[in-house]
Formats: sequence, structure tokens, C-alpha cells
Amino acid sequence: MAFNILIVDDSPVMRKVINRTVNLSGIEVGNIVEAGNGKDGLEKLEENWVDLILTDINMPVMNGIQFIESLKTDEVMKSIPVIVISTEGRDTVVQQALSLGAADYITKPFQPEEIGQDILKILGYDVEE
Ligand SMILES: [Mg+2]
Repeated sequence: MAFNILIVDDSPVMRKVINRTVNLSGIEVGNIVEAGNGKDGLEKLEENWVDLILTDINMPVMNGIQFIESLKTDEVMKSIPVIVISTEGRDTVVQQALSLGAADYITKPFQPEEIGQDILKILGYDVEE
């Protein structure tokens, strides 16, 4: 089974890095959809079903917190697991994202293995700790 993934980040370079990390993670990757901010992400989700969302926090137009908030109020989209990947590491923001329902919060700079393991775990693969 291949997994479709949405990557939301305002930095094209970071989207590319995350895209590559996902492809090296060991999961079978289907479609990877990219968006530049939360609003763009919500629009992409109207046309593409994804199994996992990886989102940044600090973005123009709609930030990651607002994005997660919108997702979690949607009956269908609220079931999609969300992993935050961000340079924003302030405790209040991390706690806010997690209490809104983010499955995990990874701060940049990250180790590719860290993201890979996290994705596998959240998608229900057996991961050796
Ligand atoms: Mg950003």
C-alpha cells in the first residue's frame, strides 16, 4: 500500500528536503502534494486525499497552528495524522500544536532518520526502537 503525503512549508528548499526524507524513509510513497501555506494546504486537500500531513508552523497567509485548527474542525480531514516540522520550538507553540491534535512535533534542524522513524510509527509500521 502506498501512502499519499501532503507537505506544507513556505520554503521550497525545505519542501524539497522533506520530500527527499519521505522518499528515503522506507515507506511506500504514493503521491506527494506540496503547499506553501495552510490555506494552500486546505485547497490541495479538497482535490487530493492524503494519509499523512507534514506541516511547518511559521508561514504567511495561514500558519501551521491555524491550519491544524481548521483540519481538526473538519469531520473528514480531522482523521489525517499531522506531524509538525518547524524551527519554531517555543514550548507554548509546541503544546498548542499537540493539544490541537498534532501527532508529533519535530524541530528543525532534524535528522532524516528521525522523520522517517516517526512517519513509520504514525502510519502503523513496526519500528525497532
Ligand atoms: Mg516557515
